[in-house]
Amino acid sequence: MVITSTVTHPDEHGQSLDCTFASRYMRESVPKFKMPEGSIPKDAAYQIINDELMLDGKPRLNLASFVTTWMEPECDKLIMASLNKNYVDMDEYPVTTELQNRCVNIIAHLFHAPIGESEVAVGVGTVGSSEAIMLAGLAFKRRWQTKRKSEGKPYDKPNIVTGANVQVCWEKFARYFEVELKEVKLTEGYYVMDPLKAVEMVDENTICVAAILGSTLTGEFEDVKLLNELLTKKNKETGWDTPIHVDAASGGFVAPFLYPELEWDFRLPLVKSINVSGHKYGLVYPGVGWVVWRSKADLPDDLVFHINYLGSDQPTFTLNFSKGSSQIIAQYYQFIRLGFEGYKHIMENCLENTRILKEGIEKTGRFNIVSKDIGVPLVAFSLKDSSQHTVFEIADQLRRFGWIIPAYTMPADAQHITVLRVVIREDFSCGLAERLVSDIDKVVQLLDTLPSPLSTKSVHVTAIPSETGEKVEKSITETQAEIAKYWKRLVEGKRVGTC
Ligand SMILES: *Cc1c(COP(=O)(O)O)cnc(C)c1O
Repeated sequence: MVITSTVTHPDEHGQSLDCTFASRYMRESVPKFKMPEGSIPKDAAYQIINDELMLDGKPRLNLASFVTTWMEPECDKLIMASLNKNYVDMDEYPVTTELQNRCVNIIAHLFHAPIGESEVAVGVGTVGSSEAIMLAGLAFKRRWQTKRKSEGKPYDKPNIVTGANVQVCWEKFARYFEVELKEVKLTEGYYVMDPLKAVEMVDENTICVAAILGSTLTGEFEDVKLLNELLTKKNKETGWDTPIHVDAASGGFVAPFLYPELEWDFRLPLVKSINVSGHKYGLVYPGVGWVVWRSKADLPDDLVFHINYLGSDQPTFTLNFSKGSSQIIAQYYQFIRLGFEGYKHIMENCLENTRILKEGIEKTGRFNIVSKDIGVPLVAFSLKDSSQHTVFEIADQLRRFGWIIPAYTMPADAQHITVLRVVIREDFSCGLAERLVSDIDKVVQLLDTLPSPLSTKSVHVTAIPSETGEKVEKSITETQAEIAKYWKRLVEGKRVGTC
């Protein structure tokens, strides 16, 4: 431990009189590897951590994420009051358990689960959509295995069909639970799963086709209705009963309010389960997701653990045991505080601000808009000409104005396309949208005056010796693809940035 020469001066009550920053606690380097020997005063601990955290980005300006960064102070009060409640103690906190069950019912009805007005729905609160997807995936896997076993068929090669645009949690599910991920490749200009190609990839080992309502990359809704149609036909022809899961992490709380006519949920018979992130457009701070099943029959009984609480049976199906209660309580607050009307107004406002931002970006004349008008409220855009400067430089420059906006490359077979993405959340106001447009404008003007970090020559013609020693000319697209690949490698570790 570093001993400094500074001495502490206690007053007559034994309290330290040292000024905060000159106290010896603030003058030593902070513990990074080992727990310190002794204790320090609480105010010093607070100051040290608070000061270091000042260097984090500001959550409200973090436009990379769908996750909620603002809630009403009344809800903050409920959250703070329940910080010390372990959700799993259902016997001790029966009301919290009841609130989660009410949330499940509300969500199941919102997604048109075929249940009666006062019938309880089948679903569970999770830490986020990732846990929800693990659970839904496990249910499909178990159901498929049970069926294959009963038919005396091999059950060791399960697969899931998805688009290559799936969020990283599906790759996690596949790896952790040993299911092959069969990805439908994307093409330039079409960045979601093509239902036709997806159904072609389905075989007898497919445990489900996972469609995304609100692609993480562009916000675009996949055509679940068409997928349901094509898959029903294929099931009839083959005698299989391949189901559909909808990953509505980002769109589950958008579509019901903005596009009530869009059929993507349990209105489609093959949709057996849906996940949604409560902490995205469910409008709750990070730490809550949901998965709901169409009916009891779609969740294999042997995955469910039964806890006896207050003499009644409380079924549970989660990966974790202990967790906080605050987010569940906050979700219920949002449901009753906002109601359908409130959610609708907020989503309409997000849509309006998306439009303002999109039009402003288009007006600069420098970008192509990659996101669609119908989808999750976000604007994804790429540079029309990236021969001099890239979207990565724009993201870097915008950081100087305080904006946190991710730039990334598209997945397999569209990876030469690089985009910037701005997520419009409840707390991104029209004033901020206008400001962002003006800052983007400033940045592109500024970049015009700066030399290109990519030498112009190398962009148009890259001369590299081939195996035969000949010089090889590369087209601009090829070179751009290489540059994109370079950046992709660089940002690969930051993939979680697109959450
Ligand atoms: C955000 C997201 C996830 C992961 O959700 P978490 O709630 O962050 O675990 C999964 N799928 C899609 C489509 C997403 O947008």
